[in-house]
Amino acid sequence: MNFYQEVFEKNKKWIKEKEATDADFFKHLAEGQSPEILYIGCSDSRVTAEEMTGMNPGQMFVHRNIANLVPNNDSNSASVIEYAIGALDVKHVVVCGHYFCGGVKAAMQAKDLGILNPWLRNIRDVYRFHSAELNTITDEEEKYKRLVELNVEEQCTNVLKTAIFQKHYNMNKTPTVHGWVFDIKTGKLIDLKFDFEEKLKSIQEIYNLGK
Ligand code: ZN
Repeated sequence: MNFYQEVFEKNKKWIKEKEATDADFFKHLAEGQSPEILYIGCSDSRVTAEEMTGMNPGQMFVHRNIANLVPNNDSNSASVIEYAIGALDVKHVVVCGHYFCGGVKAAMQAKDLGILNPWLRNIRDVYRFHSAELNTITDEEEKYKRLVELNVEEQCTNVLKTAIFQKHYNMNKTPTVHGWVFDIKTGKLIDLKFDFEEKLKSIQEIYNLGK
């Protein structure tokens, strides 16, 4: 059996496993979703959303792209955020980056990367905002890891800038916004303890859309 065929065999096995623990598993799944978490992560194949957090289908609304970005003019991530907060009423929004992110590494190189340029420019801007701090780090790997963390915090901030977040948060005090980093070397999920309330206060001096 080749790798492609294996996918369908694994799917059959997965159905059996799910129905063995709950005979109505797929019946319930078809009834609708009410996920608690919106997860925005990297497309990297090593960084799974549900598997590393032990979440089941239906528990997490997921958006993934290269380097877990929430660009201000990206209608894809904006639609996901709008629907997750406005319609699904998620209680938490998570932006999850990861160490050794290829997208972040590419952005650190002074190289023309074609169609990826405008996408990676978002990370290059994160570098520019934080160049004073980053330029003090002499160890390249440490600098790279720090940029991964700063990128997560900037993308969390981009979530805070959206009207749907500000309006919903003003009325309901949810969702809370969290920045995570997945450490590929250990499998550990690190909570960056992003102080979103403090950040929200500071950005609402410019982007107050919550009224
Ligand atoms: Zn990545």
